[in-house]
Amino acid sequence: MTDSVYQNYIDNAFVASEALIEVYNPANGQLLGRVPESPGEQVERAIAAARKAQQGWAAKTAIERAGYLRQIAAKVRANADRLARLIVQEGGKVPGLAQVEVNFTADYLDYMAEWARRLEGEVLTSDRANEHIFLMRKPLGVVAGILPWNFPFFLIARKMAPALLTGNTIVIKPSEETPLNCFEFARLVAETELPAGVFNVVGGKGASVGHGLSSHAGVDLVSFTGSVATGARIMAAAAPNITKLNLELGGKAPAIVLADADLALAVKAIVASRVINTGQVCNCAERVYVERKVADAFIDKVAQAMAATRYGDPSLQADLDMGPLINQAGLDKVAQMVRTATGQGAQLVTGGKVADLGAGFHYQPTVLAGCKADMEIMRKEIFGPVLPIQVVDGLDEAIALANDSEYGLTSSIYTRDLNAALKACREIDFGETYINRENFEAMQGFHAGARKSGIGGADGKHGLYEYTRTQVVYIQG
Ligand code: NAD
Repeated sequence: MTDSVYQNYIDNAFVASEALIEVYNPANGQLLGRVPESPGEQVERAIAAARKAQQGWAAKTAIERAGYLRQIAAKVRANADRLARLIVQEGGKVPGLAQVEVNFTADYLDYMAEWARRLEGEVLTSDRANEHIFLMRKPLGVVAGILPWNFPFFLIARKMAPALLTGNTIVIKPSEETPLNCFEFARLVAETELPAGVFNVVGGKGASVGHGLSSHAGVDLVSFTGSVATGARIMAAAAPNITKLNLELGGKAPAIVLADADLALAVKAIVASRVINTGQVCNCAERVYVERKVADAFIDKVAQAMAATRYGDPSLQADLDMGPLINQAGLDKVAQMVRTATGQGAQLVTGGKVADLGAGFHYQPTVLAGCKADMEIMRKEIFGPVLPIQVVDGLDEAIALANDSEYGLTSSIYTRDLNAALKACREIDFGETYINRENFEAMQGFHAGARKSGIGGADGKHGLYEYTRTQVVYIQG
């Protein structure tokens, strides 16, 4: 691909910016394109355009708004191969996963459009004669969507589809690591009939443009997906305006493997968790608690599967299991965490090194056994292809260790015992729990985290209603 210069998308116009951010392929260092580091004035214009458009947009019927989402979904499908190639290049994803991301994004836009005829208020019984009490759902106004780099294309839809369907307008800021797909998305939106100002994209870094959006009095909801540290900064920036927040933050998902589990299933799902997107997925298993009786067999099988992982540059080779980490900082962090863990007594079963492929941020698929609860590798998000394993003596110990975490996004358990599964449902304190299945959420579910993993959630009915507020109306007859 040739180096392209992208422009902001504000009020249905492409707006050039002098300052630019360069975007590189993390697998090989190739320059892919440049996007705006937006000046404050363009951020202001985008918010003003979204504000100006919002009432007219909300005045349309929900089914009309849904029609525009369907138009965009059709554009995404028609351009799926090209978009997937770009996602491979800028994010280091393998082609199969990039294709899944693009298809899922189109399906998500259509899924949210289906809610047009299902948005509901409530009518309550009054204490007074001849009185009706209505609970009406109203849009919030202008949404700022701030995106991470790990599923950057899908995250556009996860924020804009529920926002627009419920009558909000939006300003999106993609991650500076993977912004190109978002600017391509804006080009597709520009080919539809979506009214001016309803959907805007501004490029830039977090500390400048991200902060500008989060601290702006003209924004009614900041919908953010990213790290806990950034989530805390956004809360502080939003606090003076009491701006509503929806925060989807980091995870440290525990996987509990009991002695009666289908080991082949557990191995397959847990290994996939560390390999998919090179382990850079918020909901994937990041630490394992395996029951002593099956620990040796489990570790052996996991190590074999991890060692067999094919990795490299996915823009050159299609049949890989994983690509590089997103950047040098991500690679350094993974390498440092593995060094610290082995220094604290964890045993390296396979991997454990930066993979020298000539270029790119590659790390060997790694398994660490003999891990202990207080090790950094069992407590902090790794975001890389590394699996730390701790042996436990039963479900109670596993649940206690799983819950003892600052994160509370997803969790999983592998067992054939119905009572154990139900006990885990009751006692495990996480937003999402997968039982005998891989870590991957459904669009009709509810993706939300406990503790520092976030505030509010996404997907399904409950995710949709995050983009509304409730107005109560008392009508005395
Ligand atoms: P990040 O927090 O570094 O950046 C995310 C976005 O925030 C980027 O667009 C960045 O420019 C912006 N940003 C940075 N500083 C900012 C500031 N001061 N004010 C406003 N915006 C700012 O996260 P990342 O590295 O892009 O993504 C990885 C993290 O995202 C991981 O922790 C992962 O677990 C999390 N994540 C969570 C979910 C979820 O659904 N819970 C999904 C995907 C990723």
